[in-house]
This record gives sequence, C-alpha cells and structure tokens, in this order.
Amino acid sequence: MGTDLVYGRWYNPQGKLVQFFGTTPRTQLTMTAGFHTIKTTPDSSKAIPTAIWLRQLTLPVYQDNLLIGYLEVAIPLTSTQNDLAQLRLVLLLTVPVTLGVIGVAGWFLGGLAMQPIRQTYEQLQRFTADASHELRSPLAAVISNAQYGLLSTSTNPAQQRQRYQKIVDIAKSMSLLINNLLFLARHEGRLPLKSLQTVDLSNFLQQLADDYATQADAQHLCLNCELPPENVKVRAEPDLLRQAMVNLFGNACKYTAPGGKVLLRLFTQSRQAVIQVVDNGIGIPATDLPYIFERFYRVDKKRSRKTGGFGLGLAIAQQIVEAHRGEISVKSVVGQGSTFQIILPLK
Ligand code: ADP
Repeated sequence: MGTDLVYGRWYNPQGKLVQFFGTTPRTQLTMTAGFHTIKTTPDSSKAIPTAIWLRQLTLPVYQDNLLIGYLEVAIPLTSTQNDLAQLRLVLLLTVPVTLGVIGVAGWFLGGLAMQPIRQTYEQLQRFTADASHELRSPLAAVISNAQYGLLSTSTNPAQQRQRYQKIVDIAKSMSLLINNLLFLARHEGRLPLKSLQTVDLSNFLQQLADDYATQADAQHLCLNCELPPENVKVRAEPDLLRQAMVNLFGNACKYTAPGGKVLLRLFTQSRQAVIQVVDNGIGIPATDLPYIFERFYRVDKKRSRKTGGFGLGLAIAQQIVEAHRGEISVKSVVGQGSTFQIILPLK
C-alpha cells in the first residue's frame, strides 16, 4: 500500500510544512481539506519527469478535539489513466466498426424487407399497365369502327350491321375483362371458414361435366369423368369453386384440337381431395409453365386473342383455390397435353 503513495506531507495547524516524503512541496499548505485530482508539472530533475495525474487527499488531524495538523497524501492515477486510454482506444476502434456493421446490416435487412414490397409494387405496375393496354386496344377499335360508320357514305345495311356487330363484340369482350378484373380485386385473400358450405365434389363435378357435355360435343371433344362412387366432401363456396373449374375446363377445351380428349378426375389422398383436369391438347412449353398463373400471362398472345383469352382465367382459378386453403399446379408437355390439379382439404 505504502509504495503506491507518490508523496506524504505533514503540516502544522498553521499550514506550515513540517515533514514530507516524495516530491518537494511548497512550505505552506495550499489545498483545502478533501479529495482533489491534480496534475503534476513535469520536471526532469525530479522524481516524476513527466506530468501525471494524482488523486490527493488533504486531511485535518485532530487530537482531543484540537487541530494538531494536516496530513496530505497522493496516489498516482496512472493505472486508471492507462485503463481509460485503453478504453478510449477500444471505443475508437469498436464504435466505428459497430456502427459500420449496424449500418451494413440495416441496409441489408432494409433491402430484404423491401423486396416483397418492391415485388408487389412491380406486380401492381405491370398489372395496371397490362390492364390499361388490354382496354386501350379494344377502345381504339370501337372508336375507329364508330367513326368509320359516321363518315361512311355507304348505304349498304349489311355493311353497317357488320360494323355495329363488331362494336358489340368488342364491348362484350371489354365487359368480360372488366368483370374478371373486378372479380380478382374482390376475392383477394382467404375465405372465412364460416362462410363456406359442405360440397360433395363427386356430385358437383358430375353436374359440371353434364353442363359442359354439349360444348365438348360441339367442339368434337371426347369428355370423360373418373369420379369415385362415394361422397368426397370439402368446405367450399360452390359458385367460386365452379368458376375455378369452369376456367380450367374451358382452357382444356380451348387448347385441345377437335378429336382430342378431356378428362375430369377426382380422388382422395392423405385427407385431401384431388381434382384433375387432363387434356391431350397442345400443351404448354416448360419455359412458360412458371408464369402461367400470373395475371395477363399468355403463352401465345396471338393465339389467345383468337380464343378470346386475356390471360386472367388461371390467375382467377389460383386465387379461388388459395382462398379455399388449397393448391393448384400444372404439368404439361408440348404436343402431348396438360394436367391441371387442384388439391383441397377434406371436410
Ligand atoms: P387465357 O384466357 O388466355 O386462356 P388463362 O389464364 O386461362 O388465360 O391461361 C393462360 C395461358 O395458359 C393461356 O394463354 C394458354 O396459353 C395457357 N393454357 C392454359 N390452359 C391450357 C391448356 N389446358 N392447354 C394449353 N395451354 C393452356
């Protein structure tokens, strides 16, 4: 303990130096009683050649309530200073590094969090652009047909009628597109379980096949059903489920040449109902398969336009199936046909 002291001094009650060890002090006591932090003045001829910080204690000493003198001792703050210097160095190095790491991590996580928002924004932008484009072309056609009709001097009623018919056809197709867009906007998200009814899929699909038998016949398609004899019950909104099936079924008929086959299959598998719409039509190229459920995606725009498709049918079917907590998928080989599959949880 004693070796830690830089100096010790004894002053008489008048503050005059009596005795000391360590550095030579002033002969008169200058400090008030108590603790003080002081800095020594460097002096190469003395015991402490460089300036150091000291913690000094000046203490009045009493005997029988009588002041007999003042004791002054000091210890060096070198180790504390060293610790502080080390801490400063550590802080100097770690604070910028930590801030840098936090900044980089924040930038990275921010980017990660923004990704879905950016994707949704891009999707929305693409959707708006596609929807505007799809509406702009038929509108231009309606305007040009109407203007031509107004300016035409022809008195041929058949020609006039043809023009009006064209306008009506285009307007009908626009109306269908708007209905589809509204449908997609209104049925976003999952359906509340309470709003669903128990639907027997065997019965439901048999009725659908019966309704479409005439259309398949007219297109010279062979329509077959493979339905289990027992009931396959699921919780569903029948009108929406019918819409999804009609879209898949309509596509199977649209994209299968006359003489082809369309099969409607239902079976159960690990507490799930599996519905398949199988055709041996033109099929879908592997490069297009990942995108065909996207809104406005068409494999061949020219071909789809001829068949009156906007590329919304599969997006609607997917939205409906997902609203029922189900899954939709496709397998297809160009020239051999396609299989669209819906999986729904059993009741
Ligand atoms: P569309 O109204 O154009 O038919 P869909 O969303 O229903 O739009 O289908 C998207 C695209 O997927 C279609 O343009 C078509 O090229 C392709 N497709 C869908 N179903 C079939 C099918 N059964 N066979 C071949 N191609 C299909």
